[in-house]
Order: sequence, then structure tokens, then C-alpha cells
Amino acid sequence: MYLRALVKEARRAGSTTILRLSVELATPKPGQFIMLWVPGVGEIPLSVADYSDGELLLAITRKGKVTGYIYDAVHSGSVLHVRGPYGASFTVPPSGSRVLLVGGGSGVAPLHFLARVSREAGASCSAVLGFRTAREVFLADSFQRYCRVVLTTDDGSLGVKGLASDEAARLISEGPVDAVYACGPEPLIEKVLSLALERGVRFEASMERYMRCAVGVCGSCVLEPVGLRVCRDGPVFGGEVLSKVFSKK
Ligand SMILES: Cc1cc2nc3c(=O)[nH]c(=O)nc-3n(C[C@H](O)[C@H](O)[C@H](O)COP(=O)(O)OP(=O)(O)OC[C@H]3O[C@@H](n4cnc5c(N)ncnc54)[C@H](O)[C@@H]3O)c2cc1C
Repeated sequence: MYLRALVKEARRAGSTTILRLSVELATPKPGQFIMLWVPGVGEIPLSVADYSDGELLLAITRKGKVTGYIYDAVHSGSVLHVRGPYGASFTVPPSGSRVLLVGGGSGVAPLHFLARVSREAGASCSAVLGFRTAREVFLADSFQRYCRVVLTTDDGSLGVKGLASDEAARLISEGPVDAVYACGPEPLIEKVLSLALERGVRFEASMERYMRCAVGVCGSCVLEPVGLRVCRDGPVFGGEVLSKVFSKK
């Protein structure tokens, strides 16, 4: 069933659209996603970047048909359609634990929600957020309310020049870190997983693989060789499952 979602605010940061929508969802958890339907254009999965009191935050990076339409044509007052929330969520860290969030590009979105909830749960949180350039950076100010933030850009136009995974390696080795959470391009997830495994640190990541139905029926998002569906069994998976997925490649 689709719910009507009224756009309260639409702003652009580089190639990303940040939408604040008014929609009454059955309370989502960090790591879960919704399906956003634009009539006549298409439907896509998007991670919940935050949700409270009937207000949904999404960060949508322009890739193709639907995300391009949102970038070009959606504005305050537009009406969109949402179903969900779906999928497995991140494990909220216990009070007093020290967690590291590592996000790249659009993968920053679900970690933003996790950062707020972790902070409210009493965990202490650091985040490494990687973007291509300063122009592409989004939600960094908001993260700073919940976390110590290290920004990286590929070209050095803001923060540390280089890859988010290199800064993550530094922070994991400086320690102590009780859990690492990641989302972004799969090479980033694979690298951060191997760093966490080396140190015996608990790891979870959200895998933003291409999917269609979002309810476990169509089979388009199955992760081999484990046979798990990203939409139903994920998108969040633990280090044990992901090490099998990456060792298969
Ligand atoms: C669980 C989940 C959560 C997601 N959360 C977010 C989010 O919070 N913010 C965000 O910006 N994006 C997110 N994505 C990715 C987003 O769904 C895709 O970028 C979007 O579906 C592209 O749609 P489109 O019509 O614009 O592109 P299309 O016209 O369908 O495709 C354009 C190009 O992008 C490729 N592509 C499409 N989908 C994906 C994908 N999932 N992964 C890699 N390549 C893809 C296509 O193969 C094609 O080359 C998420 C994906 C999943 C599965």
C-alpha cells in the first residue's frame, strides 16, 4: 500500500537532493529502506536518512531516470508515494560503546539515521564520510550534532584528501572501536570489512544492490553464494555473511 508523501523541503547539494517529506510510516529503524514511487517515472529503493514524528528525511543522489527526475522536478509542495519501511536494520549499539560509521557517497544516508539513534542510545560515535569533491558533500553538518566527523574528498577540496577507507583504517588502528558500520560502494565495504576482521571488531554494512519488488519475490537482489535477498534478509548484513559474499568475487 502506498502512502502519500508531501514534500516539505527539497534542497540540492551537488548531485544529491535532500528531501524532507511529511508521511506517516510505521516507525522505521536505522538501515531500513522505503520504496519511493514517482507516477509515470518509476519506483526506487531509498534508505531512511532520518524519521521522527511523521517527517521522513531522504538523500537521493542523481544516477538515472527516477533520481534524475527527482533532482530536476521535485520541489516543496510536490506529492510522492512511499511504501515500507522494509528490510533488516542495523543493531543499535549499547550505551557506552564506541562505534565507527564509514560512509561513501549516497551510502552516507542510512548512517545519518544510525548516528542519531546511536547517540540517543548513549553510544559514542565517530564517522568517516567520503565524497568525490567538496561540492558533493551532504548532511555533514547534521552528522556533527551526533558524532565526531572526519570528511574525505577524492580531490582534497574539503577535509582529508583520499579514500574514506584509509581514514577508517587509521581510526580503527588507533582504537578502541567496538563496532564498525558501513555503507557505500562495495569496494569501500569490502576494505572496511577486512580492517574490522583483522582487529576482531563487530561489523555490519548496508548493501545497496539493484532490486525490484522489495518484498523478496522477484529474486533480482539475491547475494551469491549465500542465497540471501538484499531486500528481505538485508540490506544490512553482518561481517560473517559479507566475508563469504566478498570471498566469492
Ligand atoms: C536498499 C537500498 C537503499 C538505497 N538507498 C539509497 C539512498 O539512500 N540514496 C541514494 O541516492 N541511493 C540509494 N540507493 C540506490 C538507488 O536506489 C539507485 O540509485 C536508484 O534505484 C537508481 O534509479 P534511477 O531510476 O535513477 O536509475 P536507473 O535509470 O535505473 O539506472 C541508472 C544507472 O544506475 C545503475 N543502478 C541502478 N540502481 C542501482 C543500485 N542499487 N546500485 C548500483 N547501481 C544502480 C543502473 O544499472 C544504471 O547504470 C539504494 C539502493 C538500495 C538497494
